[in-house]
Amino acid sequence: MTLTIDAQLCPQNHRCPLISICPEGAITQERNNSLPRIDSVKCIECGKCVKYCDMQAVYKVKEHGQTL
Ligand code: SF4
Repeated sequence: MTLTIDAQLCPQNHRCPLISICPEGAITQERNNSLPRIDSVKCIECGKCVKYCDMQAVYKVKEHGQTL
């Protein structure tokens, strides 16, 4: 299982606030208007970003890409 960010739900027009709340530094964003990415190696699946994202853009996927 891994976490990903939905490009349709994320407006990609601001600095992602989830970057500073992730305890593992697993979320990165190349530019303030690009889609943030979650490093599945660093991510401990604490769920903070899922709860904190106002756009509900973060979701869990199974290995074969299915939404839970
Ligand atoms: S689930 Fe937790 S560790 Fe993983 S990216 Fe979100 S805030 Fe970071």
